[in-house]
Amino acid sequence: MKKINAVPVALGRDYPITIHDLGSHGEGVGRYEGFTVFVAGALPGETVRATILTLKKKYAVGDLREIITASPDRVTPPKGYYPEVGIYPLVTWDYEAQLRWKRERVAHLLTHIGGIDVAVEPVIGMADPFHYRNKIQVPVGLRDGRPAIGFYERQSHDIVDMTTCLLQDPATNRLLAAVRKIRAELSTEPYDERAGTGVLRHVVGRTGEGGKVMAILVTATRELPDKERWIERLREEVPELVSLYQNIQKERTNVILGKTMKHLWGHGVLAATIGDLRFALSPGSFFQVNPVQTRVLYETALQAARLTGQETVIDAYCGTGTISLFLARQAQRVIGVEKFAPAVKDARNNARLNGLDNASFIAGDTAEVLPQLAAQGVTPDVIVMDPARAGCDEKVLATVADWQPSRIVYVSCNPATLARDASYLATRGYAVTHVQPVDMFPHTTHIETVALLSRRTDEAHTG
Ligand code: SAH
Repeated sequence: MKKINAVPVALGRDYPITIHDLGSHGEGVGRYEGFTVFVAGALPGETVRATILTLKKKYAVGDLREIITASPDRVTPPKGYYPEVGIYPLVTWDYEAQLRWKRERVAHLLTHIGGIDVAVEPVIGMADPFHYRNKIQVPVGLRDGRPAIGFYERQSHDIVDMTTCLLQDPATNRLLAAVRKIRAELSTEPYDERAGTGVLRHVVGRTGEGGKVMAILVTATRELPDKERWIERLREEVPELVSLYQNIQKERTNVILGKTMKHLWGHGVLAATIGDLRFALSPGSFFQVNPVQTRVLYETALQAARLTGQETVIDAYCGTGTISLFLARQAQRVIGVEKFAPAVKDARNNARLNGLDNASFIAGDTAEVLPQLAAQGVTPDVIVMDPARAGCDEKVLATVADWQPSRIVYVSCNPATLARDASYLATRGYAVTHVQPVDMFPHTTHIETVALLSRRTDEAHTG
């Protein structure tokens, strides 16, 4: 009898797998006799030998043993590469190949999830796709009983002891090196995640304007032992340091920052710029991590908005108001909406800092605030939205569509939810007319896209 859907692989055995795509964590997606096998470390176009370690009905996960046929796009990463680290799964893949894959991925999702057939522009990549991150958050802990500072090993909580990271900018790398050195000098106890004991659990740092650095030492204890020495030594080792905080996180959780933030030394906020706009960042607030590409992203969004100076614009999911302020200089009025109250406070300060009095901000959930604005008679000409990965609530999309703005600029960090939301808006009279991905996170699978949705006026009148 012919077996249908027979599983052709067995646990613990090796098979040659042909890889044709990448999964969401950057792992290779391949097939063996038609059966799906995921292999971390393998690239599209490669045939590899892998040992089956996990076997489910519809797929298996294999451990890479040998690359039988390498992709012509496989490259050797530069100095400072730790193969076991999980933060840059695509770093062994030629950067141009990464950008081509990201473009195809956006096009594929728009078509297959959204039913949208539109040309996707080539991804705007970086001239130098290394050392782009201005923010570092690195765990401090134990590895085999020894102190370790570095990122986690792929799909685990084992810390890889690192002296430098090729995604971090020079100043945040200097902070990493300094903390490693000072922790050893002062014998500050690293946090033991398994036992829940110890002191220092994370170093968080951010580089701002002129390469200046704000640092946060996250401790599991109320007091940081040798606090004065820490301040003194960090200032010596990191001359760029302008602001230092201690954050207390006592909970046994993956959430990095706890509620208590203690100012230890220097300025309270960090000055940062995007283009010629200035921002003052509080230690906990969200700010894009790739300053070079953030500017490109915002300019792309601004171009798509095609403002003349007459428009009322709503910036939904505005964070600290960064996009709002970019728009405000070319619009009559911008209203930003954001649910995280401290970010709204930052947004208002940032508007003041830049002398932009035509930007106002409302703290609240877009699903509630947008209908309220509609009820108050606000009629936006253009709506910009930059939601989190989950995309927009349907209530938000419905309110936006009821308004019938001439343009919707959708800035998305998840092309799957962009496709879903764009397909809803397509049923409400909007066509996706321009799609421009911008690579904010080289060597990772993250894809940022600016999509312009334009009102189909002709159809709207005949409908
Ligand atoms: N545009 C900003 C922030 C984008 S991140 C920038 O470029 O920096 C997405 C933001 O949406 C976050 O600040 C998050 O707090 C906010 N957010 C998420 N869900 C929300 C909701 N339902 N209503 C309002 N804001 C929300």
